[in-house]
This record gives sequence, structure tokens and C-alpha cells, in this order.
Amino acid sequence: MADRQFREPGRVRLVRHRTPRLEMGHPWVFRSEIETTDGTAQPGDVVEVADHRGRYLGRGFWNPDSQITVRLLTREDRPVDAPFIHERVRAAWQHRIWLAARGFLGPRTDPPSLARVVNAEADGLPAVIADRFGDIVVVQALARGAERLLPAVLDALEATLQPRGIFARNDAPVRAREGLPLAKGWLRGTGSLRPVVDDGPLQVEVDGEGGQKTGYFLDQAANRRAIAPLCPGARVLDAFCYTGGFALHAAYHDAAEVTGIDSSSEAIELATTNAERNSLSDRIRFRAGNAFDELRALHRAGQIYDLVILDPPSFARSRAALPGAIRGYKEINLRALGIIRPGGFLVTSSCSYHLSAEDFRQILVEAAWDARRSLRLLDERGQSPDHPVLLAAPETRYLKCLFLQVL
Ligand code: SAH
Repeated sequence: MADRQFREPGRVRLVRHRTPRLEMGHPWVFRSEIETTDGTAQPGDVVEVADHRGRYLGRGFWNPDSQITVRLLTREDRPVDAPFIHERVRAAWQHRIWLAARGFLGPRTDPPSLARVVNAEADGLPAVIADRFGDIVVVQALARGAERLLPAVLDALEATLQPRGIFARNDAPVRAREGLPLAKGWLRGTGSLRPVVDDGPLQVEVDGEGGQKTGYFLDQAANRRAIAPLCPGARVLDAFCYTGGFALHAAYHDAAEVTGIDSSSEAIELATTNAERNSLSDRIRFRAGNAFDELRALHRAGQIYDLVILDPPSFARSRAALPGAIRGYKEINLRALGIIRPGGFLVTSSCSYHLSAEDFRQILVEAAWDARRSLRLLDERGQSPDHPVLLAAPETRYLKCLFLQVL
């Protein structure tokens, strides 16, 4: 096919020999796949992507300083303008409404007031995150191109959701790696940065300004609901509890006694407030501590639980960090297995996309071997459906959550 003139400020042409990953639906072009770059594009600009013969493959935003040099926005031959962004945001929100209406987001079927509205690549808006917490929206732009698109994204979010305010949590460390400044603040309107939202049957206060990520881990929402059958009468330990997520659900679902531990004292403070708000303080104790040390101490003290929940932060933030991360996951799971009664349950997660589901299962097999236990897989779960997964892009299915019974 004839080479055509390109309409964006730049074009990258891919090398001849490469896997057809991009054509099969994956949205990333790695630096090593690029043969030539023409034009005058600046980092963050939209460029055209062509195969080695010059055949148009799509448009995406470009950052020559990143290993992921182009993130594809569209395969259609059309400009990435305000109407385009508006369509993407609207489609993402329509999908959440559809998910809720069909019961994918829990028993409530009305348009969700607590949801991830835009989940980056999986919603066709690479590196753009938008979480709705009642009448405010918290956004993140995690790549240079995403930063450029942000004004149009904000317009589209305002038109689609009519929030009182949109707050940026652009203090995520990945921004520094993209050459972007770290900042947080209101970008549109204003509102309460301590919104109280309904997470299933619970009312949860979210710290939109000082909390981790966007303030609340929406990706675990479905898994928090799913522990309900394991809770009645149970003695429960939630070892990375943040602002109370799993622990509050366990207490609500009639656990006899719940302990929540987190290394962040701010998180523990808010978790305690959340327990009070839901009249669950009589059954939950939150305390600050290092989960690794606390699990060991509980084991030494002969403490036994019916259900242990592990939801650590990502131990592998890069591929290079994987071996160390595997040791960390194994260690924490091994320690948890030491305090679960025979017949009890372990709900264990990994949110690192560098660790495959298969490798995570293998870590559990090895931890069980060391603990002289065997594990029955009750359920293998991922992230909540408002964090969609592109089947062609395995990285978009980053959360793994195993429901295991200890035999
Ligand atoms: N399960 C929570 C989310 C957990 S996020 C929810 O449903 O909302 C991971 C948490 O682990 C963070 O709150 C972080 O503060 C905490 N953390 C990190 N390292 C830790 C450690 N060594 N011991 C205990 N908590 C830790």
C-alpha cells in the first residue's frame, strides 16, 4: 500500500519483524519496535503509527523518553479532538451504567455514585484514571499524552457526570518517570475531599486528598462483597486494611471479631472512624503495625483465625523487582497460613501486573508446602468490573485475588 502523508505532527514507523500484538488489540508500542520517527512531534503529542510499509495502524500519544513510546488512542483514521475524547468518556460512563443495571457492581442497579469511571487503556483513554466519589471526581493523568488530553477529559467528565468538583491526584510517582510534575488540587469546581460514599451496605469516608492512589481502592469492591459467606461467626484478620475495606465488610457480615492492621496511621485513623460511622466498633479493632511483624507475633502468641485477608501494596513495581516481590508474597502468605485454623480461609491478593496469575498461584503452592498445609481454591477472582480488562492486553488484568480454604 502506498505511503501516505501524515496529518499529525509526527509519525512512527514500526520495524518489519515484530509480533502482531498491536494489530491483535494491544494498545502499546515499545521503543524497540520503532524503526523511524518522522516529523516535529513533541513528547505528549499525538502521532500516527504505521507499519514498516507505511500502512496506517492508528493514532496514539508519543513519549520518546518512555519504554512504552506510543499508547494507541484509536485505530480509526480520525483526529483526536474534543468530540473524540467526549465520546470515549461518555462510552466509559455508559458502560458503568450498564454494568450497574445488570447487577455487575452489586445489588444496586442505579447509575453508580461510587465507581471507576475511566480506567485508562481499557477504556480507550491510556493513562487516564477517573474515580467518582459521590459528587466529586478524582482524576489522574499518568503519562505525558494523558496530561495533554486532560482539559478535554475534564470538559467531558463535567458534561457527563455534572460533578461539583474534579480533583487531581497527580502526585503518583510514575508521573516523575514520565517527566511530569507532581501536584494535587482542584481542576474544576470544588467540593468535600472527605466524601462519604456507599460501598455496598456500608458508608465509607474517603480521603480524596491525603489517601493512597485516588483515595479508595475501588478495584477490590467486588472482592470485599464476596467475602460475605466466609464471615458469620468468624475471627477475622485483615492484614493490609487501609481505611477498613475488607474488615468493615467482615464485621457487617456478622464476623465475631475483626482485627485490621495497616502500616499507615492515617489509614488506621480513618478506618476507626469508618467503623464508628457504621456502628461496628464493638467488633472491630484497628491498629497500626507492620503486617510482616504482626503476623509473626500472632503466630508466636498462638493466635488462630478463621479468615485472614491479605491485600498488600504492589511488591513488584517493575519487572526487575519481580524476584524480590515473589519472596515478599511468599513470606506474607506463609506467615498467614501459620495462623489459620484447619478448614479456615485465606483471601489473598496481588495487584502487581508484572506477576502473572500462574506465578501467583505457584507462590501459594510453595507457601502451603512450607507450611505443611494444602489449599483448596474456592474462587479465583480479579478486579471489579468497573476496571475493565482488554483481553489482548494482559497488563489490564492486574489484580489477582484467590479465595482459598486451608486443609
Ligand atoms: N484492602 C484495602 C486496600 C489495601 S492497599 C482496601 O480494601 O481498601 C495496601 C495497604 O497496605 C496500604 O494501606 C498500605 O498502607 C499498607 N501497607 C504497606 N506496607 C505494609 C506493611 N508492611 N504492613 C502493613 N500494611 C502495609
